[in-house]
Amino acid sequence: MSDALLEVQGLRAAHGQLVAVRDLGFSIARGEVVALIGANGAGKTTLLRCLAGVHPSAAGRVTLAGTDITALLAHQRVRRGLAMVPEGRRLFDDMSVRENLRVAGDHGRPGDWTLPRVLEALPALPPIIDRPAGALSGGQRQAAAIGRALMTNPDVLLLDEVSLGLSPLAVEEVYRNLASLREAGRTSLLLVEQDLSRAMAFADRVLCLREGRIVLQGPAESLTREAVTAAYFGVE
Ligand code: ATP
Repeated sequence: MSDALLEVQGLRAAHGQLVAVRDLGFSIARGEVVALIGANGAGKTTLLRCLAGVHPSAAGRVTLAGTDITALLAHQRVRRGLAMVPEGRRLFDDMSVRENLRVAGDHGRPGDWTLPRVLEALPALPPIIDRPAGALSGGQRQAAAIGRALMTNPDVLLLDEVSLGLSPLAVEEVYRNLASLREAGRTSLLLVEQDLSRAMAFADRVLCLREGRIVLQGPAESLTREAVTAAYFGVE
């Protein structure tokens, strides 16, 4: 028995005829931070959506804390401790950040991530807690979306393109929030990050996808930038 929290075996997913994720296997340990990198169309979003249960898998097995969750629907996976911060960060714009967080809390599972703890872990949130989500800046929306996912008490948090469309300052802020989350140590992160330098600096481990396959993986500090760039672009 491995000490993997999330274990993926032989995972396959398609969009019609197009196979986007091909027989993928990897695992993530508790508290580990894994960056998922790869060029446009490599299959990163499809993989995350599959893991979250919002895109069907055609084959394979996903295990969370030893339980097979392959057949579970998205909301059932949330209740088991797997939450996703989607690209585009859908929030209820008419509701305050506080209300958005509360609704998420009602749909998750009980645990240590109460509102006070989430506000402590994400310093961007207290000043905006009573603002309508529709009035937030991009970075604030991202922090609110992360907070919302935490309210479900996930063991594994999937984050798609956390920095997409944000100003450099907002990106720094989002990563400061993720860093304090990592400090807390109880949540594993699988995050899609286009910025290779940032991915390698922030993650414990890097997974590089190309054409739906893992073409390189390893501890971030053991991979050279050259090897990662070659895998990313498919240069032999
Ligand atoms: P990006 O960085 O552009 O989001 P990605 O690595 O997340 O890329 P995916 O979005 O998972 O990649 O796409 C993988 C493949 O599946 C691509 O060839 C893409 O064109 C295709 N694809 C993605 N979504 C759909 C869809 N809804 N319908 C048809 N094909 C799709």
